[in-house]
Amino acid sequence: MLSTGQMPRLSKVNLFTLFSLWMELFPSAEQQKKSQVKYNYLGDNENKPGLVVVKNMKIIGLHCSSTDLHAGQIALIKHGSRLKNCDLYFSRKPCSTCLKMIVNAGVNRISYWPADPEISLQNEASNPITTDDAKLDAKAVERLKSNSRARVCVLLQPLVCYMVQFVEETSTKFDFIQKIAKSQPDSNTDFYTACRQERIKEYESLFLISNEEMHKQILMTIGLENLCENPYFSNLRQNMKDLVLVLATVAASVPVFGCFGFYNSEPQRTNETDHQGLPQEIARHCMIQARLLAYRTEDHKTGVGAIIWAEEKSRSCDGTGAMYFVGCGYNAFPVGSEYADFPHMDDKQKDREIRKFRYIIHAEQNALTFRCREIKPDERSMIFVTKCPCDECVPLIKGAGIKQIYAGDVDAGKKKADISYMKFGELEGVNKFTVMEGGVNELMVSQNPMLGIGAHGTKSSNSIIIVGDMLGYT
Ligand SMILES: [Zn+2]
Ligand SMILES: [Zn+2]
Repeated sequence: MLSTGQMPRLSKVNLFTLFSLWMELFPSAEQQKKSQVKYNYLGDNENKPGLVVVKNMKIIGLHCSSTDLHAGQIALIKHGSRLKNCDLYFSRKPCSTCLKMIVNAGVNRISYWPADPEISLQNEASNPITTDDAKLDAKAVERLKSNSRARVCVLLQPLVCYMVQFVEETSTKFDFIQKIAKSQPDSNTDFYTACRQERIKEYESLFLISNEEMHKQILMTIGLENLCENPYFSNLRQNMKDLVLVLATVAASVPVFGCFGFYNSEPQRTNETDHQGLPQEIARHCMIQARLLAYRTEDHKTGVGAIIWAEEKSRSCDGTGAMYFVGCGYNAFPVGSEYADFPHMDDKQKDREIRKFRYIIHAEQNALTFRCREIKPDERSMIFVTKCPCDECVPLIKGAGIKQIYAGDVDAGKKKADISYMKFGELEGVNKFTVMEGGVNELMVSQNPMLGIGAHGTKSSNSIIIVGDMLGYT
C-alpha cells in the first residue's frame, strides 16, 4: 500500500475522458456481430467515437456511435436543445457533420482525445482517396471551429502522483479478482496480470498512435500543430499513455475468465424480463464504469462507485441499443461541504462520535440523488455497485424501483463496526447479480489466451510533474 494516507483521486476531466474512451468500446449488438471496432458505411475510414455529455460538471448522457449514426448525431437526437451550455467529451475529434449540429445547439465546450479523428487519417498509404476526403473534412472542422462560440479543445490533465500505481494495487485487490483467485487454488494465480497485459495491448493499438511521426502528422492536420513541438508532444503522449494504462488496468479488474460472470443467485422464474440478466459483456462494461467512478472517492479508505442504467421498451438509435444512462456517483461528503469539515476517522479510532460514517454520502445515494432521468416502473433499470450495498442503501435502491443490482458480495452478511451488510442477502423484489461461476448451460467463455508478453513491468506515473491544476491543449 502507499505510504501516504491520502488516496490519489482522478480529476473530473480525466474521468470524463476515460468514460468517453470506454463508451467507444461499448459492446453493442451490431459490434459483437462485426467483432470489429471500426465500422464502415461511408468507406474504409470511419472510427466510432464514444461520447460523454456533461452539464454543470455532471454526466447527463453516455453514448456511442451506431451503424447508422455518429455519436454526435445521437446526442442531438437524444438531448436536442438541452445540449446548450453542455460540455461534450469525445473519444475522437468529431467530423464536420456532427460538429456543425453540436455547435448549432449552443454547447459550451467540445473536448476530444487527440489521436486518430472520427474520419480516420491513419491509412494514408493504403487508401489515398479516402484520406483526401478525410483531410477535406478536417479542414471543414477547423473552419467550423474558428467560427464557433464553443471552445473545441483537448482537455487532458496529468494524473496525480502515484495514480497509476494506486489503480494497479486496488485493481489486483478488487473483490472479483480475489473471488476468482480463491476459486483457482492451483491454476495460474497471475491470471490478472496476463489479462491486464492483453487489455493494455488492445487499448494502446486503438487509442494511441504508435508511430510518433504519424501522430505528429495527424495533429497537424487537425489543427494541433502547436502540440507537435517538444516538450508538449512528449508530455501529451505520456499523458495519453497513462490514461490508457489506467483504463486497461481497471478493465482487467472485471475480467473475462473461465465461466465467471454476473449471475442471479436465486432461482429464476421464467418469462419475467426483470429476472433476466444483461448480456455478460454489457454487465461487465457497466461495472467497469462503476470501478472508474470509485477513483473519484472522497473517502480516504474505500472508494465505491455506482452507476444506474435503464432499458427502454424498444431499441433506440443509440449504439447502446435500448439502454440509456440514468445517473452515477461515488462516495463523498455532502455537496457544498469542505473536505475538512468532517471527521475522516476510520474504525481504528475509538471515539464513535468522530467517525466518518454518519457524514459520508454513499455512491448509491449520490447516483440516485443526482440522476438525470426518472426511474420508470415499467422499464428494466439496474444499478452497478463496486461493493455490496449496505443496510442504509438496500431499502433506497428497492424504494427507488430499481429492478436489478449488480454488485460485489464479499461483505454480504457481515456486520462491521459502523456499517452492516445484513439486508442485501434477504432483499426480495430486486434481482441480485454477483460474480460467480456460471452454470453448465451457460455459454463457455474461453479462458483468456495468455499472451506471451514477456515483461510485465509497466511504467508508473511517478515521474510526471504536475504543471498546474489543468492543462488545456487548445
Ligand atoms: Zn460525425
Ligand atoms: Zn450504503
